[in-house]
Amino acid sequence: MSDVTVRQFANDVGIPVERLLSQLHDVGVSLKDADEKISVDDKMRLLDHLSSKRGASETTSTAEPKKITLKRRTVTELRQTSGQGPSKTTKAVSVEVRKQRTYVKRSVITEEVQQAAEQKAADELSKLTDEQKAEIALREHNERKRVEEEALKVETERVAEEARKAEEARKAEDEARRAAEPRKPAVPVVDESEEGRKKRAGEKPGTPKAKKDGKRVKVDQEVLQEPSEREELHITAEKSSLRRKKKTRSSGTVAPRAPQHGFEMPTAPVVRAVGIPETITVADLAQKMSVKAAEVIKTMMTMGTMVTINQVLDQATAAVVVEEMGHEVKLLREDALEEVLDRGKSAEGEQVSRAPVVTIMGHVDHGKTTLLDYIRRTKVAEGEAGGITQHIGAYHVETAKGNITFLDTPGHAAFTAMRARGAKATDIVVLVVAADDGVMPQTKEAIQHARAAGVPLVVAVNKVDKPEANADRVRQELTQEQVIPEDWGGDSMFVSLSAKTGQGVDALLDAILLQSEVMELRAVKDGPAHGVVIESRLDKGRGPVATVLVQAGTLRKGDVILSGYEYGRVRAMSDALGRSIDEAGPSTPVEVLGLSGVPKAGDDVVVVVDERKAREVALFRQGKFRDVKLASQQQTKLEDVFSNLDEGKLRTLNLVVKADVHGSVEAICHALTALATDEVKVKIVTSGVGGITESDVNLAVASNAVVIGFNVRADSTAKRMIDDAGVDLHYYSIIYEVIDEVKRSLSGMLAPEFKEQIIGLAEVRQVFNSPKLGMIAGCMVVDGVIKRSSPIRVLRNNVVVFEGELESLRRFKDDVNEVRMGTECGIGVKKYDDVKEGDQIEVYERVKVARKL
Ligand code: GDP
Ligand code: MG
Repeated sequence: MSDVTVRQFANDVGIPVERLLSQLHDVGVSLKDADEKISVDDKMRLLDHLSSKRGASETTSTAEPKKITLKRRTVTELRQTSGQGPSKTTKAVSVEVRKQRTYVKRSVITEEVQQAAEQKAADELSKLTDEQKAEIALREHNERKRVEEEALKVETERVAEEARKAEEARKAEDEARRAAEPRKPAVPVVDESEEGRKKRAGEKPGTPKAKKDGKRVKVDQEVLQEPSEREELHITAEKSSLRRKKKTRSSGTVAPRAPQHGFEMPTAPVVRAVGIPETITVADLAQKMSVKAAEVIKTMMTMGTMVTINQVLDQATAAVVVEEMGHEVKLLREDALEEVLDRGKSAEGEQVSRAPVVTIMGHVDHGKTTLLDYIRRTKVAEGEAGGITQHIGAYHVETAKGNITFLDTPGHAAFTAMRARGAKATDIVVLVVAADDGVMPQTKEAIQHARAAGVPLVVAVNKVDKPEANADRVRQELTQEQVIPEDWGGDSMFVSLSAKTGQGVDALLDAILLQSEVMELRAVKDGPAHGVVIESRLDKGRGPVATVLVQAGTLRKGDVILSGYEYGRVRAMSDALGRSIDEAGPSTPVEVLGLSGVPKAGDDVVVVVDERKAREVALFRQGKFRDVKLASQQQTKLEDVFSNLDEGKLRTLNLVVKADVHGSVEAICHALTALATDEVKVKIVTSGVGGITESDVNLAVASNAVVIGFNVRADSTAKRMIDDAGVDLHYYSIIYEVIDEVKRSLSGMLAPEFKEQIIGLAEVRQVFNSPKLGMIAGCMVVDGVIKRSSPIRVLRNNVVVFEGELESLRRFKDDVNEVRMGTECGIGVKKYDDVKEGDQIEVYERVKVARKL
């Protein structure tokens, strides 16, 4: 099997070299040079890819069953000389290896039938003269080559149509030949000559091989001897084919093309238009075609792919399967999956009025937190024993006049971040302006944000209890910003209040309710919920926790939800007071447990009917995300090259930031980006909640970034990669230290300093209670050394859950000072008895190090 170069191949199939290279690249064959060899396998892969692509892009409903059978045949010749003197013969046995892939409807002709037919053809051939046979062989060989080339052309898309015809024509020929063959005597004509016997003997070694590898080995015989009945064979074949044609025509029952195939579908198949979304499981696909999943699996098996019933297929693959099974393909749009979800959102039902959702904005120190706390303290806990035990990012206030939901995320960043993600969580913005300070830069910013979002303002003129308060000045200044009080003829409500004393707070609530009445806020109450993530974090014990604002419908415990790249069943739900609840209606903030991971603030939350669908969409989104991430990765590199070239000395410090909670991520990223100087840019390549993973390290390597872990650790795979690639990794547990260290690295003032160094790591294998020592964790030291006297941290899922020291360190019954890697030991942690199986205990020291960052 001789490999050809890309250039030759491109020339053969008649497409530009560049196009071929890019197509090869698409299927994962990375050849760069036109003079590189392309292997048969690579060609097959290209064919597979192109044909499946074409299959996927076709939505036709041609009556004619389509066939694209790609065959690669290679013929090798075995020459054998036998006999002596005048009877000396030279025998050439052509061994043909076929690789065949059929993509669409395929005839039911079995291998055996074909093989038998070929055997007969071979027998026929044996009656011919050498010259005749040679000629036939050559012709067949050329024909095959031609067909093969054409088959390749088919797959280059451009000549798809013609090539299919050629293929059909060739098939017709095949059929004709096959049809002719059975007309030969049932008993094979036995060649009585010496050569014939030898030749038949020569066939045998080839035949058993045929069974192997699923490849068919056809034995072509060319006995170079005695001219005889070549003509006859030809005539016979033609005659018989003619006869056959006549016969079928006279019978008049078969469609014109049918005789060539010689068989028919027993009954008219039910052709369904099968809508295929971006991804679909095998089970769902089967259901859409009204067949058993096993049928689909079987079909895919014949196509050379083993799948399971729950496997998610991509659109192209599913389309090929649908066509293979004789149905019509209807490709659904890119975001069809999401559309299904969107439809759920606009669930019809009775609209009921809902509580307004309020965000408090304003300049720093003007009293946002004080106001939120006052309302929470005095309004939320009303009638509640124990008050607020838990802080969630929002709360719900019930007054005699109506309910209000406050988003407890003061600050413009949160508001814009949500908006940037297309989430509109806020109905009304309360703009807090301190009466003793007036309109300040962030006041103006807040006005701009609210205006951009089209959200009405209610102005809270705060701190009126202060003697230097001047409410009128605030009004005047705001008027200059086009925020005009109602009593001055404008459309903004102004309320003077004191968040400290509570004076005027009720009036503010009234104003909010009045504003919301004007807005006629309504939502469907029944039906599946949708909403938005307000806050999220990885809880030390409970896993991913998301504060969700239900915007419509009713969220129930046990619902399957999808949020961003995460999904899951609502395992537990609690309200702003930390009380466990079973359902939550529109405008209710709830804390939700049970998601697969930590979604982002601003991510949509949708109830999905089944968990599988949710998982599918989440995976699909993750896939998309990966693509986006990879793309941006490339951009980053390009940008760097560019900026380095263009701006001479300017360098970029790329950072990967991972932390235990969202708040920390945001705070660190914000502070670090602000550290940029004229000489060095600071760029956060990626950031997120949770342990440092392989993909974080990948990104760090690709962008030459320094990795920062705040109260989180790298998992074992990531650790290995960090070591291998020499990535600069830093762990911190105090935000100030992160910022300080990066700052000093930027100004080149790094001096050797005391730094924390992890000296040992133990894995908790078992936890038990000792009456004498309390809780003891049975551990295996997996790295370094555990020292009795050194400070420790307890890690769960690579996130720090406790910091402290050891109470005890034991080997069997003895107290020890040190335990080394590969040894088991019992560890008691001081003032912490919540160590769980699977946790890790990290031991560190502060050592003097020369810094690298
Ligand atoms: P934020 O930055 O907007 O969240 O402002 P804070 O709520 O943290 O308030 C800043 C400072 O102003 C705190 O010391 C509060 O005690 C004080 N403060 C807030 N509201 C009032 C008020 O109505 N009257 C007085 N006298 N002080 C207030
Ligand atoms: Mg504050």
